[in-house]
Amino acid sequence: MSPKRMPTPVEIGSVTDKTLTLVWSDGHRSTYSWPSLRIHCPCARCKDGVGQIPPTIRAMSMGRVGAYALRFVWSDGHDTGIYPFPLLRFELCECGEHGREREIS
Ligand SMILES: [Zn+2]
Ligand SMILES: [Zn+2]
Repeated sequence: MSPKRMPTPVEIGSVTDKTLTLVWSDGHRSTYSWPSLRIHCPCARCKDGVGQIPPTIRAMSMGRVGAYALRFVWSDGHDTGIYPFPLLRFELCECGEHGREREIS
């Protein structure tokens, strides 16, 4: 693990919500749309492209993996994606702040 203190989610929304919300230990609030999370699945099978993702896709369940990641079970049956917190926080966060940073760069 990096010595830099990585914020961790202190509140995790529900899979029944329209979008996923995470509240981090430093107070930051992140939102994610389900299709976008699925498309960015970091597992070996999805790294080279996930193909057609139905816009209605959502997570059926999710849980923590140790102290560093979240894992989702998707409505298309995919369940091998493990999403490390830095990926969720710095690359996939769709809040105004981080979404804008990505548009500029
Ligand atoms: Zn995957
Ligand atoms: Zn953000």
